[in-house]
Amino acid sequence: MTAINRFLRNVSSLSTLSKTFSRRNGHSSAAALPHGSLMPPRKSPDERNVQWVFLGCPGVGKGTYASRLSKFIGVPHIATGDLVREELNASGPLAEKLKGIVNQGKLVSDEIIIDILSKRLEDGEVKGESGFILDGFPRTIRQAEMLEEVLDIDLAVNLKLREDVLIAKCLGRRICSQCGGNFNIANIDFKRENGKPEIQMAPLLPPVGCESKLIVRADDTEQVVKERLRIYNNMSKPVEDFYRRRTKLMEFDLPGGIPESWPKLLHALNLDDDDDKKSASEQV
Ligand SMILES: [Zn+2]
Repeated sequence: MTAINRFLRNVSSLSTLSKTFSRRNGHSSAAALPHGSLMPPRKSPDERNVQWVFLGCPGVGKGTYASRLSKFIGVPHIATGDLVREELNASGPLAEKLKGIVNQGKLVSDEIIIDILSKRLEDGEVKGESGFILDGFPRTIRQAEMLEEVLDIDLAVNLKLREDVLIAKCLGRRICSQCGGNFNIANIDFKRENGKPEIQMAPLLPPVGCESKLIVRADDTEQVVKERLRIYNNMSKPVEDFYRRRTKLMEFDLPGGIPESWPKLLHALNLDDDDDKKSASEQV
């Protein structure tokens, strides 16, 4: 079933925004369009490239890979955290509603995030976008279920990294107190053990001028990092299972840093046979 049909079928309960969307794209197609509608003809579902979500624990580099991949295949990288921030600076009914919630110090509900996301995807379709890579959503099983009601996600890419490597990487993070640059002093060279793969990751060292000004974020302690991982694992397992049951989950064990992982990730996604795209991504 196409994403749009899926969207339409479930959209009625979601929001006024979605009602706009459903009126424009009603099942009875052209007949439902208001006269003189300026909406461009909808692209056929075959032309939609990807509708992917990226999963992965904090520190794994999810945003980096999602962003690189979105440039590589030419679809937007939609980070829900950024979307919410952008909406706060926008105008219109949804922005006002959001500002009201934030100003009262309340948590932004999943429903509102779905609304903001729907609006973003709708705007994207008008501009001719043919897919997306979603980053930062869903984080919980409830969010995954809600998303499934409005969109037909094709694939959930779950980026994984050995936990000991992940911890070492988080503890190696440094920020320059002067220029704000992000670096990582961890030089990871972990041997194969207990079925865990060998893994090497070069440090990302600062230039000489920053060396004496490096600071550690207060929450990059081993205890905090481990707690963050524990919370993430508890929350994400049901999300992974959700996509696994639907045969949409692709587990990807990162074999190292970006130079080692990137080509393997493309290969795993069947994207490594396109030379034009490859040369384009090298300029990213
Ligand atoms: Zn600096």
